[in-house]
Amino acid sequence: MERMGGVKRIAVLGSTGSIGVNTLKVADSLKREIEVVALSADSNIKLLAEQARLFRPKVISVGDAVLAARIRPLVSAGTAVLCGREGLEEIVSRNDVDIAVFAISGSSCLKPLVAAIKNKKKIALANKECIVSAGALIMKLAKENRVSIIPIDSEHSAIFQCLEGKRDYLKKIYLTASGGPLLNIPASRFDKLPPRAIINHPKWKMGKKISVDSATMMNKGLEIIEARWLFDIEEKNIEVLIHPEALIHSMVELTDGIVFAELSVPDMRIPIQYALTYPDRFNSKTSVLNFSKVKEMTFQRPDLNKFPCLSLAREALKKGSTYPAVLSIADEVAVAKYLEGDINFSRIPYIIEKVLKGFSGPRKKDPSLKDILDAESWAREEAHTLCQ
Ligand code: MG
Repeated sequence: MERMGGVKRIAVLGSTGSIGVNTLKVADSLKREIEVVALSADSNIKLLAEQARLFRPKVISVGDAVLAARIRPLVSAGTAVLCGREGLEEIVSRNDVDIAVFAISGSSCLKPLVAAIKNKKKIALANKECIVSAGALIMKLAKENRVSIIPIDSEHSAIFQCLEGKRDYLKKIYLTASGGPLLNIPASRFDKLPPRAIINHPKWKMGKKISVDSATMMNKGLEIIEARWLFDIEEKNIEVLIHPEALIHSMVELTDGIVFAELSVPDMRIPIQYALTYPDRFNSKTSVLNFSKVKEMTFQRPDLNKFPCLSLAREALKKGSTYPAVLSIADEVAVAKYLEGDINFSRIPYIIEKVLKGFSGPRKKDPSLKDILDAESWAREEAHTLCQ
């Protein structure tokens, strides 16, 4: 169980990725408040070993047994080494872990996430694919186990903070989007865009998958679904607003028409620190907004013809059941294939649309974990075939 006040003991799943590295920066700056108990990485054992030497966790986990054998001599004997999904599940079951930070991107951590909730760990959630695939199930489990899920995704962190004490009055969410790296690039050039042209996001430094999602705007599509579940709001009451300055990280409109916004410099350490220290707040090393230097804040509606992924995500959410899982996996496969150079950038939405159209799985309102995993494997295979 989480201990009020005292030190928060955290497990960082995906500690070598962009969110993981930033989480450890926050932990390092709040040594008296945060203790790092466990770390995990898929394959970057060089960085993981370095992190383990600095933070001296009780346990680390890597992708497989071969990697585990390779990292064993690189870390202190006091650090246990685990591997695979079982390793992650063991970490999130430990009695000495208060908060499980899900900093792994993609669908692979659904089972560890479910295990963490069942073990009553507070969840600091950066992964959006799992909540997209299994939103209803995760929220139900969290409620049953009285577990709080604190979003790390900057928009959802903003919404969460704006809604503190006001949940019952939520009418509408304005989900802001920087517009991604292709906001001002004509769609006619999309076909020839190599990954290196879109990996450099104008406002945020991120991993590869989310950078491509940001370029197609599927990232915002997934975030619509994420918001639907985290804040129990209907899809039609979530509006996406392009806000290229990325100073407002989302807004909520309450029943009386008053709008609350959260503003800060775009720096992931801010939502991460909030998620780790919630409901407390501590000093932060990040810079603060200098309003006299803010020239303007602009807003516009997204171009749905240029970015069809937004409509695909809304459609999957409206259809419900396992459709969002199918959407998310089709996207995951198409993005991986694009990064490998197998398909053009403009094929990504096409593949996702095709996979969604071909899906005829169970239409249960409340799909089980098995239904979701089955739909995911079907979508994975279908997307792979379409990418050939
Ligand atoms: Mg986001």
